[in-house]
Amino acid sequence: MTAPQISFEFFPPKNLEASFRLWDTVQVLAPLAPRFVSVTYGAGGTTRELTRDAVATLHKSSGLNVAAHLTCVQASREETLAIADSFALAGVTDIVALRGDPPQGAGRFTPHPGGFANSVELIQALAETGKFAIRVGAYPDIHPEAASAQADIDWLKAKLDAGADEALTQFFFEADTFFRFRDACAKAGIDKQITPGILPIENWKGARNFARRCGTHIPAWVEDAFDKATRDGREDLLATAICTELCSELIEGGVDKLHFYTLNRPELTRDVCHALGVTPKVALQNVA
Ligand code: FAD
Repeated sequence: MTAPQISFEFFPPKNLEASFRLWDTVQVLAPLAPRFVSVTYGAGGTTRELTRDAVATLHKSSGLNVAAHLTCVQASREETLAIADSFALAGVTDIVALRGDPPQGAGRFTPHPGGFANSVELIQALAETGKFAIRVGAYPDIHPEAASAQADIDWLKAKLDAGADEALTQFFFEADTFFRFRDACAKAGIDKQITPGILPIENWKGARNFARRCGTHIPAWVEDAFDKATRDGREDLLATAICTELCSELIEGGVDKLHFYTLNRPELTRDVCHALGVTPKVALQNVA
């Protein structure tokens, strides 16, 4: 099995303690030489400044290729593009461009009166600047708002045709879900990189709630396995085994890039990466 190329998602810290945790996470995962690391943008645009500060600091101090998430929620076009410009000024020119979700409890996405109506408009505007490498979201289990599986894929194609370079998927539980999606994308004429998003399950209750919210199908065998493992106090062991197995099946099916949702907790992601043959790149002078 060839070791995959990997990337990691972090979220911006909201206080000093969380900043230390992010820094520790970066220290553990950076030696695995990720293609890039990305920093999320809070639902409803709630972490605008925190995201900007986190990407600028990571870019300056970690030596990693950093991508900033950016959404269209609750901001005018000018404000959204000004935020993109602030990323570029900090040296960050990779963007994960999303429509975004509204703040919690606000129901469906409603465009800001002067804002981008959807993700395609945002991608077009970012692409027109010529400054950014653009990644977008994709949904192997189908986005809850999609009219149909085909409509979801057609919309993904529109996002890639608008100037995006790569799609990162929502997490899913079974490799076949991704393979079916990849085949359907190819059939629709999508020829750009589609990278599976992997959620190492640190906390089953949280992961299950998150999956339900974002329309990710939870197979009965996963529910059963976690119920038993939780009773036996072996959740960690099961999480590592399930995640490693999923990644191995993806790699055997031809996947060469994986994007990990770390939730700023590095251990499980690191253990899975090691099991897949992704090991720290240590400079010779540091070994001697
Ligand atoms: P889109 O793909 O534009 O729309 C979602 C779905 O709705 C589409 O798949 C399509 O089926 C349908 N749709 C929407 N508009 C149209 C249209 N005009 N015509 C036809 N169909 C349409 N959220 C955050 O708030 N902050 C983040 O940092 C963040 N990071 C993410 C990273 C990744 C890799 C992923 C996969 C998701 C992330 N999200 C984030 C969640 C994301 O904001 C939500 O899933 C949101 O509901 C959709 O955003 P999108 O850009 O993928 O939307």
